[in-house]
Amino acid sequence: MIGRFPLIKLSLFQTFILPDLNEYRREGLYMSSPREYYVKTLDLLQQHHKWFRETIPLIASENIPSPAVREALATDFGNRYAEGWPGERVYAGCQYIDQVELVCIDLVKKLFKAEFVDVRPISGVVSNLVVYTAFTEPGDVMMALSIPCGGHITMGKKKLGGTAGAVHGLVVEYLPLDYKELNIDIDRAKQRIAKLAREGRSPKLAMFGASVFPFPHPVKELAETFHEVGATVAYDAAHVAGLIAGGCFQDPLREGADAVTLSTHKTLFGPQHGGVLSWERHADKIKRAAFPGMISNHHLHALAGVTIACAEMLEFGEEYTHQVIRNSKALGQALYERGFNVLAEHKGFTESHVLLIDITKHGDGGTIEGQLEKADIIINRNLLPWDIKEGRHFINPGGIRLGTSEITRLGMKESEMEEIAEFIKRVIIDKEDAEKVKSDVRAFRRDYQKVHYCFENATEAYEYVRIR
Ligand SMILES: *Cc1c(COP(=O)(O)O)cnc(C)c1O
Repeated sequence: MIGRFPLIKLSLFQTFILPDLNEYRREGLYMSSPREYYVKTLDLLQQHHKWFRETIPLIASENIPSPAVREALATDFGNRYAEGWPGERVYAGCQYIDQVELVCIDLVKKLFKAEFVDVRPISGVVSNLVVYTAFTEPGDVMMALSIPCGGHITMGKKKLGGTAGAVHGLVVEYLPLDYKELNIDIDRAKQRIAKLAREGRSPKLAMFGASVFPFPHPVKELAETFHEVGATVAYDAAHVAGLIAGGCFQDPLREGADAVTLSTHKTLFGPQHGGVLSWERHADKIKRAAFPGMISNHHLHALAGVTIACAEMLEFGEEYTHQVIRNSKALGQALYERGFNVLAEHKGFTESHVLLIDITKHGDGGTIEGQLEKADIIINRNLLPWDIKEGRHFINPGGIRLGTSEITRLGMKESEMEEIAEFIKRVIIDKEDAEKVKSDVRAFRRDYQKVHYCFENATEAYEYVRIR
């Protein structure tokens, strides 16, 4: 037990926490009448909204959508089915849904200069499964980063329960990471590809992209080597889709990628959804993998929200993404100056929205995460590439990960990054009372209640919208 949480050991280094239900019972979450559950649930939602108005949200995979996107999420689209392709649906009642989906496809094509897009995958995980299904067979070899090196659970081996191994039966071999550069090591990757080819186990799929993704991956440098051994080159843009759309990261389709997968809610500021970008020559197999392969309903309210977010990206994306990157560099510098071991200092810490900090001087990532949360600063613990070798695991890793997408959307700029770094220092280095820091965080936060980089923002970012 850690505190009041029982530990469930799932694998070598992934240990998850489950809430203690007895605790919930004591706090009165289990109630006698249906109406009490109903009222309590709505009350919890409102409390969440009230709390988030006051926090500094620094989770790198999160963002805040505009009021228009939230409006789309509350529409009747979320109650409908539209299996198939616009104009060729398996369901009636789709005339407006079809038009929105066609607009969505158009906007995504424009933003990413993509020949073909499928906007039906409902999440990043499902988008990766669509690509695995379209381009590989179970038993094929896929190369990707390991999870401690920034790879996502969708790229994980079977023994870790990762999607690639456990769900699609892929044999995962790792792309080597240069720990200092925090990027894929090109020479060692080439050697590993050649070795696999010599052993008759050439990779069928390369998966670039990561969940810790501070620097553009060497797609251009490695695409040809992968293509020569017969591999498809895919790029998981879950984290950096917004940065790519804003034109300030890399451009994987031009650098040799055959397919790109999206999450629409990380640096791209839409609702939670997915998508696959590719070339016309791969359209049929991707469409078939999506439907009937992976998707029945495709969360049409979210699709409408993605469409709105894409229009916002087209108009404001360049300005927003450049500010995201300026903010992450400024936050990295401000934390570094205050004594934090922000990695990749020699490269300006990051070229994306994300920072990785070795926190071992001050404690473990899990404890630090909890301490900051007490002061209303929301970050997440993260494995460092060398953590497993040093005996650390997911519960108390050596790192924390910070992202600047959401605070940028709230209108913060470089000078606010200084203030945030100071709050973090007061909690972790000065060990000031969390309550005291929290009240200052709340006062700081009052000025940032609107969503920026959107057409309309009459409703506040975290305002609870009641339509009962
Ligand atoms: C977040 C993430 C995903 C999964 O995205 P969901 O939309 O949450 O399913 C996939 N790949 C990477 C690299 C990610 O970081």
